[in-house]
Parts: sequence; C-alpha cells; structure tokens
Amino acid sequence: MYSLGRKSRRVIEESREKIADILNVKKNEIYFTSCGSESDNLAIKGIAYANKNRGNHIITSKIEHPAVINTCKTLERQGYRVSYINVDNNGVINLEELEQAICHDTILITIMFANNEIGTIEPIDEINKLAKKHNIIFHTDAVQVVGNLRIDLEKLGVDLLSMSAHKFYGPKGIGALYVKEGIEFERVQDGGHQEKNKRAGTENVAGIVGIAKALELSMTNIENRKKHIERLRDFYISEVKKRIPNVRVNGNNNCTLPGIANISFDGVIGEDIVLNLDMKGICASSGSACTSGQNTTSHVLSAIGLDESLINGALRISIGEENTIDEIKILVDSLEEIVKRLRKNIIK
Ligand code: PLP
Repeated sequence: MYSLGRKSRRVIEESREKIADILNVKKNEIYFTSCGSESDNLAIKGIAYANKNRGNHIITSKIEHPAVINTCKTLERQGYRVSYINVDNNGVINLEELEQAICHDTILITIMFANNEIGTIEPIDEINKLAKKHNIIFHTDAVQVVGNLRIDLEKLGVDLLSMSAHKFYGPKGIGALYVKEGIEFERVQDGGHQEKNKRAGTENVAGIVGIAKALELSMTNIENRKKHIERLRDFYISEVKKRIPNVRVNGNNNCTLPGIANISFDGVIGEDIVLNLDMKGICASSGSACTSGQNTTSHVLSAIGLDESLINGALRISIGEENTIDEIKILVDSLEEIVKRLRKNIIK
C-alpha cells in the first residue's frame, strides 16, 4: 500500500504489458519466472497436475532440452506416461508418429519451437493444428526463439510458451511463461500469492524490467540483425565445407535458427577442438551449451542418427549480433589448423 511498493508494482505491470504487446497477447497471460527451465517446469507440471482427472499421458520429442525431458521423467516417476517422438536426420519431428501417439488420455503435447543444439525449427503450426484437432493442450519451449525471430502468439495459437531473457541479451535469472487465458494450470512452488497465485516468491523487479527492455530492444532492427547473423553463419558453413574434409553439417538447412551452426568433424573429439579454440580466445561448445560441463553424449545428435564418431566430433558455435565477418575468418583459419593437427595426432 505504500508508495515505494506501488512503484515496484507499476514497473512490473508495465513490463508485463510491454512483453504482451510485443508477442501480441493479453497482459494477464504473461507470468514471470526465474528462467526458461522454470517456465518449462511450471508449464508441464502445472498442466499435468491440473488435468490429472482427464488423463495421464504426455507427448514430447526426443530432442527436447533437459528442462523438458527431465521434467517429463519426473512426471513418469509420479505415474504419468510419456511418449518421446522421433525426429528425422535433420531434427524435424515426425508428425505422423506424433498423431499416432495421441491417446484418449493425452493431456499435453510439449514440443520445442527450435532446437538449441542444431537450430532446427519445428513445424509448430502443424503441431498446434494437430493438438487442436484432438483437443489437447500444446506447450512449446521457445527459449531459443523469442527475441530472435518475430512471433505473433495470437496467430500462432499455442496454449503455453516458455522464454528466457538471457537468450536475447537480457539479464540472467529471469524468464517468462505465456499461458493462454482459460487454460488451467497448477502452481508448482508453494508460498505467497505472487503472479496471480501461480508462482510464489518475491518478484525479481530488476530482472523483470530487464527482460521487457531486452525484448523491446531485440525487436528493433530484428530483420537486419537476422540477415547479418545468417550471412555470417552461411559463410562459416561454406568455408568449413570448402577447406576441411570429412565434415557433416547438422540440422535443417531449410528451416533453422539464424545463429546456430553445428558441424561434426569426423575423427576428432569436439571437446579437444573447444579447448584449442579457447586458447585462441574463441568460445564454442562441443554439445549443448546448457548441458556442457557434463560428460554426456548429446541425445539430440544421437536422435538424428549420427554415429559415435560424428557425435564426438560435433562443434556448436553461436553467432551473435556483434560478431563480424573477420571473426568468422579467424574462426575458420583456426579450425582448419586445429582439426588438421588433431587428426594427425590421432593417426599417429
Ligand atoms: N530450453 C532451451 C531450448 C534452451 O536452449 C535453454 C537454455 O539454453 C533452456 C530451455 C533453459 O533456459 P534457462 O537457461 O533460462 O533455464
């Protein structure tokens, strides 16, 4: 009731409105969370718990981020059934298999908008139509998409969508979940009555202002930025293919995020490339950035059918708006030298 509190409330609501306007939805359909992972948890568990009496079957894909896969695994331990749909060798979801997986008790489809390791964009429109045809709620993890591609949520028609500020130059530790008006979901964190009683915990006011401002900034000039990043990515891929033998470009060339390039260098260990690039001041990742630091083989690369050697030799780079063509040239020069040297060492 006091003025400082009212001021905080006002900036939170202004930020919510800004995000809702950009995504073309209603202000009361945006809920703030701490990150993309929390948004995924809240969406999937929230829908599962609220629809327990309707059914216990969930459909997802084999290439989801751990925030989705591990949430589904937890629900399986709680008695839910989960179908993990296959993808083709470009990472595109098999729509026929998806439709066949739908049962009388399917309550939720959760399929990512775009993949974080290989950049493939999924046919969200078609999946949404399928979900609507069978009267099933559809959630999409759009953490890699919001802020990087223009989205009109009213047109898209999905029921729930996760986003995270640090994917579009916003602060770390703040995310949001869109939930279409009328979709019932349960809170998963108990406590106070924040976020219309759906997400307990004192609001991260600075983060909330930050995510809204970052989204606003990312939308200005988005087309030119996309063009710039795509030009760098295409140049990177074509130069690598031209100069380094035995490589495979992973992902879907026709429908992909602008800034992700995932290439397998046969016969080399991706982590060795990462360490060598790091010594030159270049940051890259051998698997998903979100799962790196753990010694696990990429479930995404294995789902698209790569053999062990190509999985181990995968290198993912993410290109941002501040990168330049000269930096890409340095990257390719470095890669040519590193891969040649590592391959020679392995042959010895
Ligand atoms: N989903 C996808 C597709 C991601 O790429 C990430 C992180 O990179 C997440 C979820 C998790 O988001 P956060 O790091 O904000 O928890």
